Amino acid sequence: MDFSDLGLAAPLLRAIKEQDYQEPFPIQQQAIPAILAGSDVLGIAQTGSGKTAGFALPLLQQFQEKQLARKRYIKALVLVPTRELALQIATVFQGFSTHLKRRVKTLAVYGGVSINPQMMALSGTEILVATPGRLLDLVDNNALHLSEVEVLVLDEADKMLNMGFEDEMRRIFALLPKKRQNLLFSATLAEDVKAIKAKLLRDPVVISVEAQQEENQLDLIKQVAYRVSPERKGPFLRYLIRNENMEQVLVFVSSIRNANNLVIKLNKNGLEAMAMHGDKSQGARTEALRRFKTGKLRVLVATDLASRGIDIKFLPFVVNYDLPRSPKDYVHRIGRTGRAGAAGEAISLITPEDEHHFKIIQKKMGKKVEMLTSDDADLQGF
Ligand code: AMP
Repeated sequence: MDFSDLGLAAPLLRAIKEQDYQEPFPIQQQAIPAILAGSDVLGIAQTGSGKTAGFALPLLQQFQEKQLARKRYIKALVLVPTRELALQIATVFQGFSTHLKRRVKTLAVYGGVSINPQMMALSGTEILVATPGRLLDLVDNNALHLSEVEVLVLDEADKMLNMGFEDEMRRIFALLPKKRQNLLFSATLAEDVKAIKAKLLRDPVVISVEAQQEENQLDLIKQVAYRVSPERKGPFLRYLIRNENMEQVLVFVSSIRNANNLVIKLNKNGLEAMAMHGDKSQGARTEALRRFKTGKLRVLVATDLASRGIDIKFLPFVVNYDLPRSPKDYVHRIGRTGRAGAAGEAISLITPEDEHHFKIIQKKMGKKVEMLTSDDADLQGF
C-alpha cells in the first residue's frame, strides 16, 4: 500500500516524500481514511506506531479546505500529557504543512514556562496541541475559545489519566461544542480509558496495533550486556562511547543524582553530555532534547520519568548505565532505539548485584540477552 492510496492531497504527499516515509504504517493505513471520512477513532497504539502522522495528515487535509478560523477560536485541539509530547506533535504538524494551499497554523502550549508568549503566539492558530492545565489557564485568561473546535484528539489518554488530569479533562470537554469529531489514542484500554471512550466516542472505528509493533520493534534491536564492577562503570561507558564510535547515545540512569554525577564525569573527560530529569527546569529539558535531536549533543543522560513518550528518530544506541527496576521500563528504554524500522543497539551494564534482576527482566521480555565481559577492555586513559 502507498500513501497515495489513502486519499491524501498532493501537497501532503509531497511533504511525506520529503520525510522519507516509504509506505504507511498499519495504524496510518486504517486511521487516515477513517478520519477523512469524519468518523470517530479509537486507536490502541503506542509511541513508535506512527500514530501522530496517522491523525496529523488527515486533519491538515480537512483544514486546508476550510476557511481560516476566527481569531482565537481554534478548530482542532490535541490534548497531551507532557510538554515534550506537545512540542513533538506540533513539529510533526508543521513538517507536513509546508506545501499546503493555505497555511494551517499549529501551536504547542504547555505549562512550566511563562504564559504571555503563548498568548501572543495563539493568534491565527487553528490546531492547538496542549497539556490540560495550561490550556485551562489560557481559557481562563480569555486568550482562547474552545466553542468552535471541530476535532478533539486525546493522545496518550492513559498517561494523561495516570498523571491525574481527569478533572481538567472533564472541564475541557464541557467547553467543547457537542458536534465534533473525536480521536482517542491510548497505549492501553484500562477502565478509566474505557470510561472516556464511552463518554466521548460515537461509533468509533477501532484500531489496535500495539502488540504487533512492540514485537517487531524488539526484534530490530540488538541487545547486549556487559558484566562490569560498579567502580568500572564510568570508565567503561566512556570506553564504549569512543570505541564503538557512538556518535550519539541515550544513557539511562536510575536517579537524578546519578544523572548529574555522570554528566559531570563525562564532561570532565571531554564527552559533551547533558542530563534530562525531573529536577531540571522545563527550559533546560527542552534545550537538552533540542541539542540532542539536532545532533549537537553526543550524550543525553536521562531518568525513566524524563524519557516517557520521547521520540528520537533513528537513535542508534541506548545504554542502560543503571538497570531499571521493572521489565516494562527496560523494554520502554530500549525501544528508544531502532524506532520506525531502523536498527539499533541496546547495551546494559550489569554489576554482580544486578545479575539476578537482569535474569528476571530477560524472562519477562521472553528474550535472552548475550552477556559479555568487560574485563578485556583496557580502561587506562578512559
Ligand atoms: P509516532 O508513533 O507517531 O511517535 O511515530 C514514530 C516514528 O515513526 C516517528 O519518528 C515518525 O517520524 C516515524 N514514522 C511515522 N510514520 C512513518 C512511516 N510511514 N514511515 C517511516 N517512518 C514513519
